[in-house]
Amino acid sequence: MILKVSRLGHPVLRAGTRDLTPEEIRAPEMKRLLADMVDTMREYAGVGLAAPQVHLPLRMAVIEVRGNPRYPQAPDIPVHVLFNIRLTPIGEATIDDHEGCLSVPDLRGRVRRWAKVGVEALDAEANPVRFEAEGFYARILQHETDHLDGAVYVDRVDTRTLSFLAEFQRFHLPGVKLPEE
Ligand code: ZN
Repeated sequence: MILKVSRLGHPVLRAGTRDLTPEEIRAPEMKRLLADMVDTMREYAGVGLAAPQVHLPLRMAVIEVRGNPRYPQAPDIPVHVLFNIRLTPIGEATIDDHEGCLSVPDLRGRVRRWAKVGVEALDAEANPVRFEAEGFYARILQHETDHLDGAVYVDRVDTRTLSFLAEFQRFHLPGVKLPEE
């Protein structure tokens, strides 16, 4: 089922989230919610979707990259969910790149992100996972974790780079439609 996506201005995007218990993660109704979040992410061509974007103050996000036209070199990322995500920057390197957001329709803007992050989370079975992520995956994780902390990318954007999608495609990336996060 495709869920309604909260848009900028809805308080749920600013409220922050709470961690989930292993029991909640393993509950049958969680499978339903995850399926709905994945349906919603795919419906709107997103590469990530955080729970506050479907009006839930829970610390969880789904992520999937399939054939991203903007990052032809980037490997696809199989669909997965992460619960109770915590990120730690690794090193000092940052990358500036454009982002979009399903909760901020039709805009793009450049955001500086850590190039590499350490990730601590629980997986779909509530098992602890710990790994490092870099590049586009690290950017998605930082974008989604912002949502879980009540932030959105426009809080961090270089406002002089903000562009409507049509103008972005015309002047900055001709002919390529971007997925949103
Ligand atoms: Zn977003």
